[in-house]
Amino acid sequence: MKNAWWREIVELRDDVVGFDSSIVMHPNTWVASGHVAAFHDKLVDCRNCKHRFRADHLASLEKCPDCGMTGTLTEPRDFNLMMKTQVGPLEDTASTTYLRPETAQGIFVNFKNIYQSARKRPPFGIAQIGKSFRNEITPGNFTFRVREFEQAELEYFVPDDGNDMACYETWVAARKKWYSDYGVRADRLRFYELKPEERPHYARAGTDVEYLFPWGWGELESIAHRGTYDLDAHMKLSGKDLTYFDEATKSKYTPILIESSAGMDRTTLTVLIDAYDSETIVDDAGKESKRTVLRFHPKIAPVQVGIFPLARNKAELVERARALELELRPHFRTTYDEGNVGQLYRRQDEIGTPFCIMVDYDSFDDHKVTVRDRDSMRQERVAFDALAGYLRERL
Ligand code: ATP
Repeated sequence: MKNAWWREIVELRDDVVGFDSSIVMHPNTWVASGHVAAFHDKLVDCRNCKHRFRADHLASLEKCPDCGMTGTLTEPRDFNLMMKTQVGPLEDTASTTYLRPETAQGIFVNFKNIYQSARKRPPFGIAQIGKSFRNEITPGNFTFRVREFEQAELEYFVPDDGNDMACYETWVAARKKWYSDYGVRADRLRFYELKPEERPHYARAGTDVEYLFPWGWGELESIAHRGTYDLDAHMKLSGKDLTYFDEATKSKYTPILIESSAGMDRTTLTVLIDAYDSETIVDDAGKESKRTVLRFHPKIAPVQVGIFPLARNKAELVERARALELELRPHFRTTYDEGNVGQLYRRQDEIGTPFCIMVDYDSFDDHKVTVRDRDSMRQERVAFDALAGYLRERL
């Protein structure tokens, strides 16, 4: 998913540059961004069972959902989500800093370095994929909420020339297309436009991308028009100039920011859930069995082609199949395996491999192999020299 995002957002565009900032930054970064003052969850403790809850996850502030007692819950209290750490040799408050809770701030503080060295002028974007850390008190639902996760963030800087809302809309449409291109089911995906009262005061527009997980709707990404809020905040606290100097007009201005902030762990979970299928199949003898299959979009299948010999104890078959796998490896994500034919296919179905290739005795005479399609389970004979083209077309 990270490769798919990077390819689309950075490599296939000429107006976005890739970047990788530090995880541990100057502590004032998080003062300027507002995280020290306001990056809180409201927590409630039960005085009876000692369990702790997020206030916004409770149905009522009266009754403990775990022990069922009433009147035992404390008032909601602030709990900062940033993970603390120390820099330097002294363990005093002056050396306290944080692991980044988002990657975006690294982009803002480096904005000037980047536009100058990459020779970019707005509209242009800076993109980054990296680990972020949050001291979540209720991690769970697989990789939906974890304490270290990977974000893919795009900060797109635009001049204040009246085209900012159109640019925001273009990015919302581009992100829609991205999810659909990688096979996320449209009926489980929604783009929820935030109402003015649901947005931070500085944001002029915002859209949450949400997916219908087995436990309900959950956020995958947020897209926002953030005005000049972030660059202004850093300039104010650091006293450093982060405006853009336009050589053409010899004037300075603070660019407007359009942000797309996606979680790669959640997106991966989404494609796994969408891909998962379990079906009953009937063989030629009329016997029923269960088949578990991950129907990944071929572009994101971790293994795209499995190559096997019909028999593991026949040296010439093994040799030919291994050689074929080596031949295809630079072009596709391949794997080699050997064993019982039925089991080989089932194993690849379970990891979502779109195509399996079997090298058999006939291969030496007709110079063809059997190619099996994961979804239809249909098999086809394909010539060795047509194989790469055949697979490329379908993957
Ligand atoms: P939530 O409300 O679910 O805690 P958030 O609104 O705080 O999420 P953002 O700060 O907007 O999340 O972060 C952008 C993206 O980063 C989210 O849409 C999500 O995909 C991902 N993300 C945030 N927190 C986590 C986490 N604890 N585990 C996994 N992914 C996360």
